[in-house]
Amino acid sequence: MDLSNVCWSARIPPLGAGIPRLARLDAVQDAWRRRFGPGAPLTVIADRSLRHQIGRAERPRFDALLGSGAMTLAPTADPELLRLARDRQWYVVSGDQFLDLRRDHPWIAGAADRFLGWDLRGGRLVLRPSGIREVPEQQISRAVEAKSLKWPHRIDVRDPAHLRVLRSHWRCSGPRCLRALLWPDHLLDWPTLTAQGAVLCPACNSALTEAGPRGAVRSLVVSDAASGTELVRFPLCQDTPVLLGRGRLAHGINLEAPELRQSPAIGRVSRRHLMLNLTAAPGGPRITAVDLGSGNGTVVERGEPGAVPRALEPGGEVVLGDRDALRLGDAVTVRVSGRRWFADEDLALPVLAQTDGAQPTRLVT
Ligand SMILES: [Zn+2]
Repeated sequence: MDLSNVCWSARIPPLGAGIPRLARLDAVQDAWRRRFGPGAPLTVIADRSLRHQIGRAERPRFDALLGSGAMTLAPTADPELLRLARDRQWYVVSGDQFLDLRRDHPWIAGAADRFLGWDLRGGRLVLRPSGIREVPEQQISRAVEAKSLKWPHRIDVRDPAHLRVLRSHWRCSGPRCLRALLWPDHLLDWPTLTAQGAVLCPACNSALTEAGPRGAVRSLVVSDAASGTELVRFPLCQDTPVLLGRGRLAHGINLEAPELRQSPAIGRVSRRHLMLNLTAAPGGPRITAVDLGSGNGTVVERGEPGAVPRALEPGGEVVLGDRDALRLGDAVTVRVSGRRWFADEDLALPVLAQTDGAQPTRLVT
């Protein structure tokens, strides 16, 4: 059982949104025993942050549950929960769709009957399949995106104040900051927020100054072509070309930067391999890519079924669609992430994958 998810559910007695209630554990435990028998073992895992989120009055019980071993804590419960469910063939009690973990746990879509949510029927809580379904890759990408902004950048895309931070350019004036040196006009990656809302440089922690609106933004993902492991995500802003390659690049993303996940494949990427740009176009902003005469070449893979990959000639430009990918040196893949929550029309974010009353996952199609 994902205790944090249960405690936040406004549909479990005691009903009502607001703060998470530890008392909701009782109704779910009761429903579990009615479904699987009074002696059926139930492992309860909670996010470490839950203790600070529940009301003061429920903390003694929280501590008692922890002390007695009836509950375990994890930095975030989901990965631990899914690991146990996968390795031991257990049921999962949670209203979550686990979108951001689908890549690590591809078995989820085929095990929908083992994921249990809840309904209130005639005043009694019953467990029922939570409705796990297969989801398109773009939707998974958006969920991973929201997660990756939250950690390490502490940006919550559900928070309008945080969205405003994402919609601006930010300049670092840190005296010894390498990124400030490479990117003097504005940073090419996301800033980091403090709990108090201060906007800091992700490299040197200096306070940043706002440097105008970003305009349209798309998020790009670079992965290892063989394993699919993500190496880096970065924003591509309108009329701000970004160079992709290896080594310290002015206005560029260095795939060899020590803070990135390293892959031996990166050696096949040229120092100045690809120029990416986002420009205004009649049908909406579009991404163009130019191979800068790379040693090992760039291959365009169109997203349409049956499309044949073709090499991009040196200096040649290609428009990158939402479902297309570029292979650099047959080593790394570049594609557009699903996210689009920066354009003006996205200011009112629809709730696409609402998991439960209290904590909707706001995503934009
Ligand atoms: Zn800096």
